[in-house]
Amino acid sequence: ATAAEVLGTHTREVPDFPTPGVVFKDLSPLFRDPEAFATVLADIGDRWRGKVDVVAGIEARGFIIGAPLAQAMGVGFVPIRKAGKLPGETHTRSYDLEYGEATIEVAADAFVPGCTVLLVDDVLATGGTAAAAAELIERAGARVTALEVLLELSFLHGRERLPGRELHAIQVD
Ligand code: IMP
Repeated sequence: ATAAEVLGTHTREVPDFPTPGVVFKDLSPLFRDPEAFATVLADIGDRWRGKVDVVAGIEARGFIIGAPLAQAMGVGFVPIRKAGKLPGETHTRSYDLEYGEATIEVAADAFVPGCTVLLVDDVLATGGTAAAAAELIERAGARVTALEVLLELSFLHGRERLPGRELHAIQVD
């Protein structure tokens, strides 16, 4: 099966989570199935291997995808964390959510200056998280030359918040 087919059969739709009216896409069935997860990781790895210096993942599901992906690509992994989790000097960025604000951080010494980064997450919704993470990585001295998500919720137009960026989604809803 292709990576897109595997995602189709390994995504659970949870109505009214985390708030009424939202249909949450839960990728737990994918992570639980080693063969299916390997198909998806191989697809992403084949697309970007040799093209980036580092993989960065957004907490928390971006870690689940990003760390094994980075290993398979033979590059390092950098976590983009929620505020207050990282020791030492950090770069910080806040961005607006539907209700309130979120803050993300990266270690100040995470990147060799000018290195190229593949930024990964599970789902692109409004694009606010990915846009903020890309800006944060660039503030830390690296270049986000590629973005990969497993699912893109195209009706939320998140792609429009990432103009000029090379973004690939395995499945577009
Ligand atoms: P955005 O900032 O609106 O694009 O939301 C993206 C962030 O929220 C990502 O880190 C996702 O993990 C998470 N997210 C939003 N919607 C979903 C969903 O339906 N399933 C899983 N994660 C989601």
